[in-house]
Amino acid sequence: MKRFTHIDPATIEEAVFLLKEYQGAARVIAGGSDLVGGLKDNLWMRYPKAVINLKTIPGLREIRADADGLHIGALATLTEVAESAVVREGWPGLAEAARRTASPLLRNIGTIAGNICQENRCWYYRYPHKLGGRIDCVRKGGTRCLAVTGDHRYHSIFGAVKKCVAVNPSDTAPALVALDAVVQTNKRAIPIDGFFSAERGAPSTVLEGDEIVTGVFVPTQGPGGKSAFQKIAVRKSIDFALVNCAAAVTCLDGVVTAARICLNGVHNNPRRCDASEAALLGRALNAETAGEAGELAVAQAKPLLMNAFKVPMARTIVADTLLACI
Ligand SMILES: Cc1cc2nc3c(=O)[nH]c(=O)nc-3n(C[C@H](O)[C@H](O)[C@H](O)COP(=O)(O)OP(=O)(O)OC[C@H]3O[C@@H](n4cnc5c(N)ncnc54)[C@H](O)[C@@H]3O)c2cc1C
Ligand code: SF4
Repeated sequence: MKRFTHIDPATIEEAVFLLKEYQGAARVIAGGSDLVGGLKDNLWMRYPKAVINLKTIPGLREIRADADGLHIGALATLTEVAESAVVREGWPGLAEAARRTASPLLRNIGTIAGNICQENRCWYYRYPHKLGGRIDCVRKGGTRCLAVTGDHRYHSIFGAVKKCVAVNPSDTAPALVALDAVVQTNKRAIPIDGFFSAERGAPSTVLEGDEIVTGVFVPTQGPGGKSAFQKIAVRKSIDFALVNCAAAVTCLDGVVTAARICLNGVHNNPRRCDASEAALLGRALNAETAGEAGELAVAQAKPLLMNAFKVPMARTIVADTLLACI
């Protein structure tokens, strides 16, 4: 690790002021479970001069529900989200996504904001600088993607974004997409469908240089609403998803009146399954319609040489997650 200044601001305003002062040479840290790895491996083209600690800012850890929905502070840990009776009761898909993230230790330090802002895990991108030199792939400012011609078994099955076939690794992201959340920052409220942006490079969100996530709002689903999350990983604990899926479905009088389904681990950004959602509307949710939704979710898949195995996984997990909603 190289030397950097560690700063403990007392307010969001102070943290934002510092981000502006450092003009792109500072990074915010929450739990640090992702960021510290980046610092150790010299991940970024520009090594941070300063790390701004958000944990010294009070009031960012609350989990509370009101008539409109669920308010989660940016610094709420994944353990707190997973174990909150309020979240488990009203937003079970999100509680389950947090519960299935990483290991108990990482969930105790990892935060909800850090989880949706984390960098991708492509092993070429993450290759430690100290082991034989930097690998400058497209995402690090180079000209080619090493994964496309190398080992891409865990990469995108829906093509590249700007030549990059890395996947979004977050477990809570698809749950927040399915539940139609809104990300709140010091500047604005960003609907979750517009929050992730691999098109911008790293990090893969629309956050500006002086923008900090202050919380997440998740609307109440209403009568007949239910959500679920499922994940497939090589290891049951402490492993990123090969494929994960969240669904939020509303059924009234035996038919689906609203559905949002999101796959992750399959593309640069979390991927809404629009065709699957449309096919369910006005029909009963059962094994047949869920299976059809799974087929539609992968109809556009373009797997790479080594990761075709993820296509049937994605198809099956969409159907299973939908059935878990009834
Ligand atoms: C061994 C291991 C296993 C893991 N397994 C999983 C897994 O199964 N599923 C999964 O989803 N993740 C996994 N992770 C990734 C990570 O630990 C978690 O996603 C965690 O939630 C990150 O939160 P954090 O608070 O520690 O983030 P940090 O490391 O503090 O920050 C992560 C990124 O988000 C930015 N950031 C943090 N907070 C804010 C904010 N409020 N506003 C703007 N930017 C912010 C930071 O600048 C940084 O770029 C794993 C990590 C490790 C090391
Ligand atoms: S998949 Fe993306 S991050 Fe990985 S080597 Fe290719 S360009 Fe780099």
